[in-house]
Amino acid sequence: MTEPALDFVIAALEKIRESSDHSPRASRTMLRRLQLADFVAVSPPASAELRKGGRQTSASPSGPRLQGASNKAKLLEPIRECVCACKKCAHLASSRTQTVFGVGNPDADLMFIGEARGVDEDQQGEPFGGRAGQLLTKIIKAMNVARGDVYIANVLKCRPDTPSGTFGNRPPTPVEMQTCRPYLVEQIEIIQPKVLVALGAVAVEGLLGMRGTMRELRGRWHAYNGIPLMITYHPAYLLRNQAPSEKRKVWEDMLQVLERLEQPITQRQRNYFL
Ligand code: SF4
Repeated sequence: MTEPALDFVIAALEKIRESSDHSPRASRTMLRRLQLADFVAVSPPASAELRKGGRQTSASPSGPRLQGASNKAKLLEPIRECVCACKKCAHLASSRTQTVFGVGNPDADLMFIGEARGVDEDQQGEPFGGRAGQLLTKIIKAMNVARGDVYIANVLKCRPDTPSGTFGNRPPTPVEMQTCRPYLVEQIEIIQPKVLVALGAVAVEGLLGMRGTMRELRGRWHAYNGIPLMITYHPAYLLRNQAPSEKRKVWEDMLQVLERLEQPITQRQRNYFL
C-alpha cells in the first residue's frame, strides 16, 4: 500500500475512534490486506464518506475490495500456515496425521462448507476426499462446474479423534468448532464467494452457531455476513440414505444455487436425479 493511502486509512480510523465510544476493529485479514502493496480502494462513495469524517461501522460490499485472484491465494497462505502449526485443541493436534485447510479456487463464486475431515481426508490432506467426496464431485459436475473452480473447506481443520483402537469418525464438538471457526471465517472473508453451501447440520452449527434439523433448515436461503447461504444434506447422508426422494432434494437445492449464480440450467439438469 502506498504511504499516502496508508496515512489516509490511519486518519480515518483515528476519526472513528474520536467520534465513537468503541475503538475501531480490524480483522487479521483486513490488516493483511492493508499490508499488500496492490490493495486499492475501488469504491468512491465509501472513501468519500471517510473523507467527510463519516462513521464506517462495518465492511460493506461497496467498500474496498481485493483485485485479482492471486491476492486471495497470497492472503490464504499465512492462514494455512497458522492452521498447520495450530495446537489450540491439544487432543486433536496430537492425534492428527495432518491438518486439512481447504482446496479449490481462491477466487471461486461458490464455496462448500463441510463439518470435519474423516479418516480418508486425514490421509489425503484434502476435504471431501473419500466416498462422500466422490459424491460431492458428482454433484458439482452435474452442476456443470469443475471441482477445481469451487472452494471447499471444513469447519474443523483437524480430524476429530476417536478412542484408540476404534475406527470411524465422530462429529466435532461445539467447543472444537468454536475454537477452529476463526480460520473458516477468515477463509470466507478472503474468498468472498457469491454463494455458500453448508453441507449438513453440523456445518451449519459450526458456521452460524445455530442448531436445527435439516428438515427445518434445508431448501431455502439463509445468509452469512450478507452472503447467500444454501443449506443442504451432507453427501454422507445420501450414501446412508439412497432414497431417490432424498437425492432429489439435494439436487433441487443445487438448482437454486445455480439460479442464484445466474448460471444457465438445461432441461436435462432440471430433470436430473443424483
Ligand atoms: S481443530 Fe482447528 S483450532 Fe483445533 S487444533 Fe485443529 S486447527 Fe487448531
